[in-house]
Amino acid sequence: MESMRELFKIGFGPSSSHTMGPQRAAQKILEMYPDATHFHVDLHGSLALTGKGHLTDYIIEKTFAPKPVDFSFKSDELPLHPNGMIVHVYNHDQKIKDIEVYSIGGGSILFKGELAEKPVHVYQQNTMTDILKYVDEHGMSLYDYVLENEGEDFEYFLSSILSAMFESVENGLKKEGIIQGKLQLKRVAKSMFQQAQNTRREADRERLFISSYAYAVAEENADGGKIVTAPTCGASGIMPAILYYCYKQLHIEKKDLIKALAIGGLFGNVVKTNATISGADGGCQAEVGTACAMGAATMAWIYELNNSLIEYAAEMGLEHNLGLTCDPVGGYVQIPCIERNGYGSLRALDAAMLAKQLGYLRKNKVSFDTIVKVMKETGKDLSSAYKETSLGGLAKEFGLS
Ligand code: SF4
Repeated sequence: MESMRELFKIGFGPSSSHTMGPQRAAQKILEMYPDATHFHVDLHGSLALTGKGHLTDYIIEKTFAPKPVDFSFKSDELPLHPNGMIVHVYNHDQKIKDIEVYSIGGGSILFKGELAEKPVHVYQQNTMTDILKYVDEHGMSLYDYVLENEGEDFEYFLSSILSAMFESVENGLKKEGIIQGKLQLKRVAKSMFQQAQNTRREADRERLFISSYAYAVAEENADGGKIVTAPTCGASGIMPAILYYCYKQLHIEKKDLIKALAIGGLFGNVVKTNATISGADGGCQAEVGTACAMGAATMAWIYELNNSLIEYAAEMGLEHNLGLTCDPVGGYVQIPCIERNGYGSLRALDAAMLAKQLGYLRKNKVSFDTIVKVMKETGKDLSSAYKETSLGGLAKEFGLS
């Protein structure tokens, strides 16, 4: 399993696979071919179908600037992943290279052929079953397991990720107005937060606080603001909402939140390794479903549940998002994405609470690894109309192009 540094990335929205990934690919190509004078980019599959709304062409053009670039949008998919592109590199009249590259989710990229880079595996274990067996045999906590594999300086990395997450919540809570794009969607996080402050019923107040934090980040992301992929841009609101809620409402110290963040990340990493975190590959179950599992594990750690109950919480968080479709209206990461982050953060909280209560009554029969496998298979069975192409579901109903 790769480092969690490849999972949590600080960057700009609205989409890790459609903006962050293509931006990283363009940067690498620029480094490899400094003599290039101009480019032509063929965007394929989901990158072509929702690339405009997700700002794919905009970010590539910005990265290559001042070198000119033009685009072809081709709805057919390249063989390795639905988010593929071919970059034709030119030096004046001469074409010097055709580069096939994929944006495989969460801002990660994959070059095909001789440019392919081997992933660096820092963890020996790849499944949650093996991880839980290892920590059990060695009498260590899940957090110590993460540090053993990532190295001691990892705490510094986690601290910077936590700060960036909190910053994205606070930035989103300050802003009002309309989010960029054709939907003309109004920001509501700030008003939700004020409603929470004025709500007397404690149960409602707590849920409104959490939702407002998730909306704040998701609105920032939709508007091209700075966020942390957790595991993706589209699902970036859930982990910060849980952590900020723990900080502000439950008064948990940052040193403990850093540990909780690592536990959530561990579960996200297992999904990324064994299935997918890409909406174009697996639908929204891969993005918000994974984020919900991560949030549930994070909250379960805060509740000081044992490892088996943390696993139960995460499993529940993913299980009940199985089949969740990705159908962003107009290709914008706004409807259903923003609301889905609010909803997902509440579900994460519920999953941890249920694991806490039910886990002592009977043993959960479904392992986290099983549900990850099921999610992967379900993603394969989902029609491509529901995998970030904006050809089905809400996107089709709204008919916005
Ligand atoms: S519907 Fe889900 S997977 Fe699709 S763009 Fe929105 S958040 Fe991402």
